Amino acid sequence: MDYDVIVIGGGPAGLSAAVYTRRAELKTAIIEKLTFGGIITTTDLIENYLGFPAISGADFGKAIQQHAMKYNPDMIQAEVHAVKPIEGGYAVESDAGSLTTKTVIVASGAAPKKLGIPGENEYFGRGVSTCATCDGPFFAKRDVAVVGGGDSALSEGLYLSRLVNKIYLIHRRDKLRAEPILQKRFSELSNVEYLWNSVVTKIAGEKKVTGITVKNVTTGEEQEINVSAVFIYIGEVPQTSFVDVKKDENGYIMTDENMQTSSPGIFAAGDCRHSLTKQAIISAGEGALAAIAAQMYIEGRLRSKERPEAVNPQRILS
Ligand code: NAP
Repeated sequence: MDYDVIVIGGGPAGLSAAVYTRRAELKTAIIEKLTFGGIITTTDLIENYLGFPAISGADFGKAIQQHAMKYNPDMIQAEVHAVKPIEGGYAVESDAGSLTTKTVIVASGAAPKKLGIPGENEYFGRGVSTCATCDGPFFAKRDVAVVGGGDSALSEGLYLSRLVNKIYLIHRRDKLRAEPILQKRFSELSNVEYLWNSVVTKIAGEKKVTGITVKNVTTGEEQEINVSAVFIYIGEVPQTSFVDVKKDENGYIMTDENMQTSSPGIFAAGDCRHSLTKQAIISAGEGALAAIAAQMYIEGRLRSKERPEAVNPQRILS
C-alpha cells in the first residue's frame, strides 16, 4: 500500500485528521483540489472557533495548514475522481494518478449551491458571486443583492455592508435562519433593505450584472431592481459523488458515531457528513475522531457493528 490513510479534502476536518494520523505515525496523504485551508479561507471573519475570538478566514486557513504541515503529511493538489475497493484497502484515483491506501477519510466538504436561474451562469464572475471577501471590493459604493437567510448570507452580508452603498437582502421566507447574534448585528445596519418572501427569478446584464428580477412568492408580484452584483448564499452541495458509501437524500455521507461510513475503512468528517450543523470547530473535532478511528481500524481494534447500516437515515436537518 502507498499509504495507511488518504485524507480527501484539506479543510479543517481533513487537516485536523492529518495532524492526528501523523502523530500516530501513519503514512498519510491529503488530497485537496482547491485551497488547503478549505472554503472557510474565503470567510471574512471567524468569531466562534474556541481560542480565536476574531480571526480572518485567510489567517485561519494559513494557521491550520501550517499546523498540519508540521507533521509532514504528503500534500497533494489534485481532484479525486473515484475511491475503489481493492484487496486490503482502497485505490484513490485522482488527477495525480492512482494511490493505494488501507483507509480513507473523506473530508471533501461542500460547494455553494446555485439558484439555477437565467443569467446566473452567464454572469458568474462578472457580478454573480458566492464569495464576498473575494469579489466584494469590486463593488465598493454600489448597490448589491445578497440572497439567502442563513449564517453565510448574514456573515458575508455584514462584511459587504462596510463596502457597498446598499444591500438588498432577499429571502424566500419572512424569518431568517441565521444565528441570533448575526441577525441582531444585521438589523443594526442602516444600508440594508429586506425583501421578504421573495426569490430572484432572473439576473440581467450587459457584459456585467446590471439588475435582477425579484418575485414576491406571496403576492406573485415581480419587480426589477438595479444592482451591480448578486451574492448567492443559499446553502451548499456536499462533494461526495466520487465515493460509493451510504448517503442521505442530499448526498451527505452517513456515518456512525465513530465517523465510520457503510464501507469498512472509509471514514467521513466535516461538511460532507450528514449532521445537524456545519461549523469549523465541529469539522476539526470530527476529523480528529475519524483519524483515531482509522488508526484503531488499521490496528484491528475498531468495532464495526455500528456502521450506518444500523443507523436510521431519517434526516435530522429541517
Ligand atoms: P443554510 O444554513 O442552509 O442557509 C441557506 C439559506 O438559503 C436559507 O435561509 C434558505 O432558506 C435559503 N435557500 C435555500 N435554498 C434556496 C433557494 N433555492 N432559493 C432561495 N433561498 C434558498 O446555508 P449557509 O448559510 O450557507 O450555511 C451552511 C452551514 O454552514 C450551516 O450549517 C451554517 O450554520 C454553517 N455556517 C456557519 C457560520 C457561522 O458559524 N458563523 C457561517 C457560515 C455558515 P430557508 O431558511 O427558507 O431554508
